[in-house]
Amino acid sequence: MSIKSNLLEILSQLPARVRLVAVSKFNPNESIMEAYEAGQRIFGESKVQEMTEKYESLPKDIEWHFIGHLQTNKVKYMTPYVSMIHGIDSYKLLCEVDKQAKKAGRVIPCLLQIYIAQEDTKFGLSFDECRDLLSNNNWKELKNISIVGLMGMATNTDSQKQIEAEFCSLNNFFTEIKQTFFAQESNFKELSMGMSHDFPLAIAQGSTLVRVGSKIFGERNY
Ligand SMILES: *Cc1c(COP(=O)(O)O)cnc(C)c1O
Repeated sequence: MSIKSNLLEILSQLPARVRLVAVSKFNPNESIMEAYEAGQRIFGESKVQEMTEKYESLPKDIEWHFIGHLQTNKVKYMTPYVSMIHGIDSYKLLCEVDKQAKKAGRVIPCLLQIYIAQEDTKFGLSFDECRDLLSNNNWKELKNISIVGLMGMATNTDSQKQIEAEFCSLNNFFTEIKQTFFAQESNFKELSMGMSHDFPLAIAQGSTLVRVGSKIFGERNY
């Protein structure tokens, strides 16, 4: 299967409300260009330096989504161009993105990463940490970020039931957060969940952004 046919196969499974983030981390520019030529414009990366090098050498109408674990000292390298940051997991990080976005003269769409998996290895805020972050109104003073939704990763397991339950809990939490803190804001509408092995389950549970890598580009060579 070619990258193009993989891509088209996945796109054919997405309802109109769902957008595809093609996760191109560890894949070369040539592979990205194959997907680009098949019409894909949103790409996801998990390392700031790798994403920045790709941004500099690839077509400028690509929308770069940062999906990895972000360190505050790396934020400034991507604020001039990044389209969305999926992994905000602290107020401190949100402040740094705001500060750097201001320098770049931009407002950057951000997703709060929520921890839903039964694993120790995934980053993110617990439900309570997220409620606390938003209950304190300080974030409303940050004019150069826009909180546009939530992101989460399910446990890496064969149990469809468990994955479904985790996505369902994130969808319910999304509704709670929207009603409690963003009732007046139409911008808060994105729910980023679903990867190669579980994106159909995520879509069934209300995802609006799926992040699919290996199903498009093949297994990664780390
Ligand atoms: C790597 C990665 C993906 C894509 O994973 P695949 O299993 O290759 O689809 C999605 N989301 C995040 C946060 C990732 O780091």
